[in-house]
Amino acid sequence: MAAEHRFALQVIIPSHLVGQVQSKLAYVDEAIEAAQIAPDGDSVQLQLRSSLSAKVLSALEAKVQQVVADMASGALPPKVEILEDHMARPVPYATDPMPELLARAEVSREHTGIYSLGPLVTRLIEVFERYFVRLAAEFEAAPQRFPTLISAEKLDRVKYFRAFPHSLTFATHLREDLHVINDFAEHTHYEETGLNAPPEAFSKIQALLSPAVCYHYYFALADRPLPGGQLTATAVGHCFRYESSNLNTLERLWDFTMREIIFVGPADFVLENRERGRQKVAAYLEQIGLAYLVESANDPFFVGEFRKQAAFQNAFQLKYEIRARLPFKDSSLAVGSYNYHQDFFGRHLNITLPDGKPAHTGCVAFGLERLAYAFLSQYGLEPAAWPALVREALHG
Ligand code: AMP
Ligand code: ZN
Repeated sequence: MAAEHRFALQVIIPSHLVGQVQSKLAYVDEAIEAAQIAPDGDSVQLQLRSSLSAKVLSALEAKVQQVVADMASGALPPKVEILEDHMARPVPYATDPMPELLARAEVSREHTGIYSLGPLVTRLIEVFERYFVRLAAEFEAAPQRFPTLISAEKLDRVKYFRAFPHSLTFATHLREDLHVINDFAEHTHYEETGLNAPPEAFSKIQALLSPAVCYHYYFALADRPLPGGQLTATAVGHCFRYESSNLNTLERLWDFTMREIIFVGPADFVLENRERGRQKVAAYLEQIGLAYLVESANDPFFVGEFRKQAAFQNAFQLKYEIRARLPFKDSSLAVGSYNYHQDFFGRHLNITLPDGKPAHTGCVAFGLERLAYAFLSQYGLEPAAWPALVREALHG
């Protein structure tokens, strides 16, 4: 039987961290169905899948206290830098678009975090995509196509497992063994929570489902001098981030698509292009009437790495997010990001500049489903009410 448990936190979570700690609580224990941090950051309410013994409950509570302590104790407030603020841009719609999208089969849920999109949403994403392709051409970005799978060996090389273990999605296959394969064919069914096949039937992990687009480009450039000393590329691809019970609506997907424009070269080349990209995108977001802001941000590092890495990203202005307004819930959603990785990939992948130093990298990245979802949250599902530029671009 489901149960609830509320307790006080030993470390009070400062308001700027409440959301980030909250999203990590989904990963603390399988017994937790949902967790809610009180707005003032001093207590947590857990919804449990079943009632637990006092002993199990206190062990679970200790895990939560540990996560909170690791992420929040001694954390200094980041210096929040707002580069653009168009949150007050007037928009005509204030209703949650999700019920209407589901009712019109514009969005169909296949599984938690896995959605199919219908013709209107697809055309809207194509409008954005045509713009991104034009934008990439202004940077003379070389078009690329990347695989959906990504090498486990290469992800290890760039320390991905340490930074984002919670959101990985693994690709496996049956072991090459006649008995294992026959057994699987004969006995496997989907049970309440997944396939009933034994874990030993599956191979060791050599590949994962890709969590980002630009990594593939850096992998392709590894272990050699950077051709021409600087490069710009663009690609769109499926990305996978397992977000546990945080997966809901089009806001947070397990499988989503990202368009990136990627810069590799000396630091000033990367930084200048990231900034040029931001200015061009600002002009477009004005034309499509999006209410949004651009502010400093950090990647969702897992608990152990979080405090150090988030502070590092903040101190060196490595990440800015485009956060679109969601009028129906008075909140915002990151629809894109401007990223600078310094020479991190250059060092770990041995991509060298003509002077022998490691290359710097950066990218401009857009989440296509989120951009569509945020736009529909602000303008509704009737193209007649959309800004002319978007409406007119709908049919190519
Ligand atoms: P990031 O590399 O984390 O900055 O991601 C780039 C963009 O991808 C974000 O700004 C989002 O628009 C999108 N994105 C990231 N994670 C998800 C997700 N779980 N579901 C949908 N879109 C996402
Ligand atoms: Zn990227």
